[in-house]
Amino acid sequence: MCEYCWEKIAKADDTEFLDSLALNYAERAVLEELYKQGENRIIEILELQGKALHDAIQELSEELLIDIGELGKVLVSVQNGDLFTVEFEQAVYDAFTPLYHLAGESELSALSNDKTWSTKNKAASRFAKNLQKLVPDMNGTSKDTMTRAFQKAIKEGKTPSERALLVRGISAAAAKGDAGPFNMERSITISRTMSTAAANGGKVEGWKQSEVVTGKKWRSSKGDRTRKSHKKANGQVRALDEPFEVGKSKLMFPGDPSGRAEEIIRCRCTMQSVLK
Ligand SMILES: [Zn+2]
Repeated sequence: MCEYCWEKIAKADDTEFLDSLALNYAERAVLEELYKQGENRIIEILELQGKALHDAIQELSEELLIDIGELGKVLVSVQNGDLFTVEFEQAVYDAFTPLYHLAGESELSALSNDKTWSTKNKAASRFAKNLQKLVPDMNGTSKDTMTRAFQKAIKEGKTPSERALLVRGISAAAAKGDAGPFNMERSITISRTMSTAAANGGKVEGWKQSEVVTGKKWRSSKGDRTRKSHKKANGQVRALDEPFEVGKSKLMFPGDPSGRAEEIIRCRCTMQSVLK
């Protein structure tokens, strides 16, 4: 799909999701700005990662280029290298921790006049750590995608140099973001997943601090793309410190980064508070 189309889809989904957070105008403007910054930073990092991979592939001899084991080593060294791990963790922290605080603070101030949100709460640092744990998972996904593409190219080539040429072609396309894991679609996926986690995680913490809210109710997002397991979870009520049961995962909130990837990637579900 074209970049413009992805942008349009992302925008439509975000509007629906942001509406459900019931923020005031100023909060919403801040949130949209943070979201955009996070997404842009992730796009930048993915581009750099794609280019670094391509550079490393370029340096391989023809013989090594058609050896999937060698290609795997290059992938691991680029993706798990300190540079990108640190960059990713920092980007995730900078972009999505403020969303968490914003969501928590806005819920708390709506529920209680005498309580003030503290940005130094333990739940927030636990949340940031959990979110950063998604980084190796994300890198694992892109390694798998590239490995499959390389394997296919090696199979398709008739002679060794033809195979090497095909492998180079795949790496060049990935570096440009035309195909593979370093494109715009992927950065939207990552930033959406993280923004859902941050907004819902902050909400639950704000409710806890209010001491008025006792429970939470899962609200699945509307639309055809909502997972069956999430539609099934719609209306599920739990105490604030009890997890929802969604598919095979136990999630404290939609997008909970400690849950399985299959239940949190691109989730747009939200929650409603249950009062005493
Ligand atoms: Zn969902």
